[in-house]
Amino acid sequence: MKIICIGRNYSEHAKELGNSVPTEPVIFCKPDSSVLPRSNPLYIPEWTNDLHYEVELIIKIDRLGKFIEKQFASRYYSSVGLGIDFTARDVQEDLKKKGLPWEKAKSFDGSAVIGKDFISMDDFPDRMNIRFELKKNGVIVQKGNSADMIFDFDSIIENTSKYFTLKIGDLIYTGTPSGVGKVEVGDVLEGYLEGKKMFRVVIK
Ligand code: ZN
Repeated sequence: MKIICIGRNYSEHAKELGNSVPTEPVIFCKPDSSVLPRSNPLYIPEWTNDLHYEVELIIKIDRLGKFIEKQFASRYYSSVGLGIDFTARDVQEDLKKKGLPWEKAKSFDGSAVIGKDFISMDDFPDRMNIRFELKKNGVIVQKGNSADMIFDFDSIIENTSKYFTLKIGDLIYTGTPSGVGKVEVGDVLEGYLEGKKMFRVVIK
């Protein structure tokens, strides 16, 4: 199983980090060891002083494909979940300055939170109008809607499958809306997809 992530897919988030809005999806990957086991806390790694949450919609691939055309892309995923792409922002900024890859900042153990359920796309009247939010210690810190994605699900499938064979069970994190921020020891993060609770993560 591999995890493909899309960066800067919401223009307000690109702007809040001082990045330009991309004309091509920004892509990076997380290894399977990055998945935080369900109900485990996340321990802040000792090598970062600025660990950020990024709540994201996740699509799950359920059909093998390569060079998928956009018009057929919706045949390759049928459900959506919610997760967190944890990011060591200080490390990422340093790597960005040096023009180096981001994996140390984004692909470490526990950096990928995956909510307990994936919900069938058929359960949403419009897949381009899916609401989600993240609460930190009970307060909403991020609010997103798939309508605001720069690259929609089908465009992401088309683009990523040019580079990677998409396999059954692969996950694609589709980018985070604005409102990312730092976590501290003791924080509790809860993700909601259309009002339904999908995960709870305690920071240690
Ligand atoms: Zn992200």
